[in-house]
Amino acid sequence: MSYPHMLQPLDLGFTQLRNRVLMGSMHTGLEDIPESHARMAAFYAERAAGGVALIVTGGFMPNEHCLPAGEIPVYRQEGAVDKHRLITDAVHKEGGKICLQILHTGRYSRTENLIAPSAIQAPINRFVPAAATEEQILQQIEDFAEFAQFCQEAGYDGVEIMGSEGYFINEFIAERTNQRKDRWGGSFDNRIRLALEIVRRTRERVGKEFIIIFRLSMLDLVEGGSSFDETVQLGKALEEAGVTIINTGIGWHESQIPTIATKVPRAAFTWVSARFREHLKVPIITSNRINTPEVAEEVLSRGDADMVSMARPFLADPHFVNKAAANQSAQINTCIACNQACLDHIFQGQLTSCLVNPRACHELELTLTPTQEPKKIAVVGAGPAGLAFATTAAERGHTVTLFDSAAQIGGQFNLAKRIPGKEEFNETLRYFGNRLEVLNVDVKLNTRVDTAMLNSGAFDAVAIATGITPRTPKIPGIDHPSVVSYIDTITGKTKIGQRVALIGAGGIGFDVAEFLSHGQESPSQNIPVFMREWGVDMTLAARGGIEGVNASLEAPAREITLLQRKETKVGSNLGKTTGWIHRLGLMKRHVKMLAACEYIKIDDEGLHLLVKGEPRVLKVDNIVICAGQVSLRELADGLNIPSHLIGGANVAAELDAKRAIDEATRVALTI
Ligand code: FAD
Ligand code: NAP
Ligand code: SF4
Repeated sequence: MSYPHMLQPLDLGFTQLRNRVLMGSMHTGLEDIPESHARMAAFYAERAAGGVALIVTGGFMPNEHCLPAGEIPVYRQEGAVDKHRLITDAVHKEGGKICLQILHTGRYSRTENLIAPSAIQAPINRFVPAAATEEQILQQIEDFAEFAQFCQEAGYDGVEIMGSEGYFINEFIAERTNQRKDRWGGSFDNRIRLALEIVRRTRERVGKEFIIIFRLSMLDLVEGGSSFDETVQLGKALEEAGVTIINTGIGWHESQIPTIATKVPRAAFTWVSARFREHLKVPIITSNRINTPEVAEEVLSRGDADMVSMARPFLADPHFVNKAAANQSAQINTCIACNQACLDHIFQGQLTSCLVNPRACHELELTLTPTQEPKKIAVVGAGPAGLAFATTAAERGHTVTLFDSAAQIGGQFNLAKRIPGKEEFNETLRYFGNRLEVLNVDVKLNTRVDTAMLNSGAFDAVAIATGITPRTPKIPGIDHPSVVSYIDTITGKTKIGQRVALIGAGGIGFDVAEFLSHGQESPSQNIPVFMREWGVDMTLAARGGIEGVNASLEAPAREITLLQRKETKVGSNLGKTTGWIHRLGLMKRHVKMLAACEYIKIDDEGLHLLVKGEPRVLKVDNIVICAGQVSLRELADGLNIPSHLIGGANVAAELDAKRAIDEATRVALTI
């Protein structure tokens, strides 16, 4: 067995878990769609069939202080037991176990009726909470217990009580948000009273043979957060109160430190769980940026925790555990921690999915049915669109030939993977490379396709996935020797000087700035370097893990100015949940950002421009063009076979890999 620690069962006394892998809670948006229990059942059952031991559902809110006005909490809805039985039965049929997460959102609630320990507004919420009254606090405790009892009746194996990320319970625990003077505030014993009362009351209600997981904030990463000693004290008290397992939470939602984005090193925070576990008897689950069986095994074999929690990796590949158990970890579609189709969607009110697996949360809609009419299909371009199309079509039974003029598959992902903090993009290319082999796709690299080849009679249809070419803006002097394309910059074909201006501040402009501002070491590959850069105290002496700690950075490699014509804040179009990380990261590296630019000319002196109408000259060694792209689609003209334009070849504007893969998969399911 390749992953003996990860695949070892865990005996909880009254019940056994088949291995050490927990699918962590993710709000998918399915919870909010009326009568979507069959979809949720399909979603969770596929993950259980894929081998995960224990699933935690997305968070369900217990009452009107969290829910949108007029909504009734699940456990008070008529017929809800039977509806949730659809989910629990489906998971149990596949040999898995499932807990429902009870999430009281406290001062993060998006409702006017929100309550918190004290009336202190969260920096990320426009609503101001009222300080909960004694009566309200007692009612919240009762609601948790009543909800847990409902879960037991509905066939859940347990509940997870959300006590981290800066939500209601966490708000009582931390001085930052709890300034009460009564028995629920002041001393630490008072501040943890709510957490303990909720666990005690829940345990009383559900009896001994029901899993209670408490998600505990082991590192708040905010000023006024708990000290590590307090965290341990809370853990021990929770043990006494009757929890079965303690899960690790890292950081509050308002924290200014990235905790799960792709630039966070793998397993970056398991050292915190390890330190905590030394003091506790109940099993400890660790989490954050664990995305391969190798990393999970390493964390568990080191003794950092008893179980690992992975959430997004099960969107990317529901069969993660079974593939690992069958020694096929190279076939796992790895989560690249981009957040683009999961968290970004949720925070924009859209249904969750996954950039590398568009079937996630669309299990009943995107089904891989074998074709009744096998065809010989040419796919031109082995970027994300071509790869997704070729593998999906081959899986359905078509005979596929995949062409690329380059010497390797991947298209622009071969540039993306070179950006410090985007090393995970290599995994997508590894996954697709293996899939092509398993599915017998005929891959022809170093082959530029022309219309004659496609019209030769060798193919019944073609998918044109030829991508894009960078846009060259019309600026006088654009052919000056100091001007470089982002491609030549990232591939290292052109050596870039010390002073650089970047024209265009979209995703690629930001990535090029990141690339040019780094020295030798990528912080995403080195946990201590990352923690130093973001000001996290690995000795755990600082309150909240950060108080009084100054972030220290290596000196930026270059003097960089990032420019855009728009008047809006630079970077405002970046990902909803990751844009702030890109902006803050570059600001720490002293990258200057200028909006409202009008480019006048480029000459030996540098870049001449107007900034908000004021003339300026940026005396730079190089000007890198990151001004968007245009489609490469000439091949679509003059064909005598049916053709399908996908990815960048179809539409270049606002193209990203999420759209390229999703579109290609959907078209390949219809061909
Ligand atoms: P491409 O990736 O451009 O692939 C087209 C392929 O077609 C190429 O391999 C090319 O060689 C081949 N080709 C073209 N013409 C022919 C021909 N005649 N014959 C044979 N082969 C041909 N997107 C995200 O979603 N998230 C990110 O974080 C992200 N980061 C990025 C960072 C960088 C630095 C870059 C450059 C891009 C990034 N992107 C990101 C964008 C993403 O990579 C693209 O949206 C995606 O690659 C588009 O896929 P595609 O298959 O349509 O085209
Ligand atoms: P982009 O996001 O569309 O940005 C293009 C930039 O060029 C903008 O700043 C635009 O701003 C500027 N521009 C456009 N036309 C110009 C012109 N004629 N002259 C001068 N400037 C011009 O495109 P991109 O940065 O090339 O990225 C391509 C795709 O890859 C994007 O859709 C992006 O989503 C994706 N990507 C995503 C990530 C990620 O982290 N999620 C990272 C990299 C890439 P002004 O018009 O204001 O000047
Ligand atoms: Fe992971 Fe990105 Fe998929 Fe989210 S969208 S699950 S972060 S690969």
